[in-house]
Amino acid sequence: MTTPLFRIGYGHDIHRLQQGGRLVLGGVVVSEEMSPIAHSDGDVVIHAVVDALLGAMGWGDIGEHFADDDPRWKGQPSLVFLEPTVQRLRDSRYAVQNVDVSILAERPRLKAFKGEITASLAAMLGVAPDAVNIKAGTNEGCDAVGRGEAIAAHAVVLVARIPTEPPSLPLATMLGAN
Ligand code: MG
Repeated sequence: MTTPLFRIGYGHDIHRLQQGGRLVLGGVVVSEEMSPIAHSDGDVVIHAVVDALLGAMGWGDIGEHFADDDPRWKGQPSLVFLEPTVQRLRDSRYAVQNVDVSILAERPRLKAFKGEITASLAAMLGVAPDAVNIKAGTNEGCDAVGRGEAIAAHAVVLVARIPTEPPSLPLATMLGAN
């Protein structure tokens, strides 16, 4: 098995929107007037980031790991998908270097939430806020996102292999160096 120093991953997610309920992006509530139609909380930012992490590591996609008909995930915050994915990444001795996310939404306007989403996502990933970039735009009136019927997100992530520890002194001694 190859263990390259860097690996890159990409993820995309889209959910239809409905009136009522609440909309969560990157773990932050951005609206209490609309909600995604989803099995979990439908957080498109986290879903895209999870897919990007899985993609970087060659681990398939979010649906393979967290089926959208599994009763365990019904109504759950999407941290339940991100947390085990980040843990598996760490167990494989890789660390997130940076994440870049584009959110596409005609409504609500997200400009005021970008800082909060950045901080939230950074905390979930265990990285500094400057390792996370959030972009928010409209879809210029095009298609379902542009009509305000859906919300989408794209994410790119870079992960790097954590260097292995140099041999400890007792091991060097064991090998005959003294
Ligand atoms: Mg999704």
